[in-house]
Amino acid sequence: MITRLIVFGGTGDLAGRYLLPGLAALFGAGHLDARFEVVCADRTGRSQEEFREWVVAQLDRHAADLPSVARKAVAAATRYQRADIRNPDDVAAAIRGDGPIAVYLALPPAVFPAAVTTLHEVGLPTGSRIVLEKPFGEDLDSAENLNRLLADLVPERAVFRVDHFLAMTTVQNLLGSRLANRVLESIWNSAHISKVEIVWDETLTLEGRAGYYDHVGALEDMVQNHLLQLLCLIAMEPPITLSERDLRDRKVDVLRSVRPLTDADLPGRTRRGRYLAGRIGDREVPSYVDEQGVDPHRRTETFAEIELALDSWRWSGTTFVLRSGKALGADRKEVAVHFRPVPHMPFGHEGTAEPNVLRFGLDPESLSLELTSVGSTVGTLVPLTLTAQVQPPELPAYGRLLLDVFNGDPALSIRGDEAEQAWRVVSPIQSAWSRDLVPLDEYSAGSQGPADADHGR
Ligand code: NDP
Repeated sequence: MITRLIVFGGTGDLAGRYLLPGLAALFGAGHLDARFEVVCADRTGRSQEEFREWVVAQLDRHAADLPSVARKAVAAATRYQRADIRNPDDVAAAIRGDGPIAVYLALPPAVFPAAVTTLHEVGLPTGSRIVLEKPFGEDLDSAENLNRLLADLVPERAVFRVDHFLAMTTVQNLLGSRLANRVLESIWNSAHISKVEIVWDETLTLEGRAGYYDHVGALEDMVQNHLLQLLCLIAMEPPITLSERDLRDRKVDVLRSVRPLTDADLPGRTRRGRYLAGRIGDREVPSYVDEQGVDPHRRTETFAEIELALDSWRWSGTTFVLRSGKALGADRKEVAVHFRPVPHMPFGHEGTAEPNVLRFGLDPESLSLELTSVGSTVGTLVPLTLTAQVQPPELPAYGRLLLDVFNGDPALSIRGDEAEQAWRVVSPIQSAWSRDLVPLDEYSAGSQGPADADHGR
């Protein structure tokens, strides 16, 4: 197990909000001990004291539910180092020490190519691993370029392209439900399933993140990575094992089976939107373009919906809708599997049955199955929902993925060819949207999104 982590960008939002709490969870659960060292680097040059205060404040804010002994262990294990990732001398000083290390690039994505180039110049100890945050590239060409740079640095097995959704318990549960039960797999195909919705609708707005979000938008921020990963887990053939090779081979098959969207398809199969001022609960929300740091000329979408078809024996005839939007009226974060209606209804005209829906709640984590039952009045049918709460996880998603990095198990990270295949799906959409082949709709904050979006439940 690797016992030294160097986080470049170790004082940013991601580090404070997710990485330090993830480490605290690992200390709390006994996966890490006092030998473990963390170096957090940035360009500012702060004192160890200032840095320690920042670490404690972040843990108090984002890991308050963890025992104070776990938070203290992180504070004791962590030190600050001033280093510009573009400067080889700085980087050499930051990584100096014995044995293999895990290097985490918690940096603005535009810096990734320069970061990998510098690490190559400096050289990493044998057995080291590198972790890259999303988004991996900004289109197919840049992802291919980054993959080439990484291939010169370390073996593919040592590259961890993070998608923290894959480490969420409820996402793992997509696999558990499908593969550890007999009842689902035999009906898991287009003969029985008409539509799958993979939805991350949120009431959250920009929350001060224009510097990042205004350059990517909903398609790159959510659909290209998290939602396509969920599609892979829903649609893949059962892997032989859950090892990195079997799992990732089957996921790549799904991405390769996605029918490419042509310019002619795109207006009917994709929607994009941007929110206007509105009210969400008791909050007044300004228009996206009036948020601080937003450049209206970029025409960044805050809502993206795409409808995909898979060219495969199992899925030909099923529609997959992937959608994510900000500033919507309600949070809806789920995978909803819609089954086809029953082939024959023996109840006569009194009986109407809604088709069954299996819902995997992503946040909050839950599982529910919508069935139809007979009602109390003779001849009537009523809806019946079976709901289960999923067991709370031992580790938060970032705790799990850090543990996998330290243990050298890349199964839940994205392989290089997988990242490129995901861009192959998204690139035609990016291109058509940039040419305005699909209008940028507007929707009021607090609404359901653009009027013609798919709100099928
Ligand atoms: P921030 O802007 O909050 O932090 C960026 C960090 O990188 C800062 O510590 C900054 O410090 C440092 N940095 C920037 N340039 C350099 C450089 N040349 N050398 C060394 N350090 C540098 O960004 P986030 O933490 O929000 O995001 C980091 C990454 O994580 C991004 O790729 C983002 O897409 C991804 N991510 C973020 C999520 C989040 O919720 N925040 C969620 C999922 C992914 P300084 O400028 O002082 O050097």
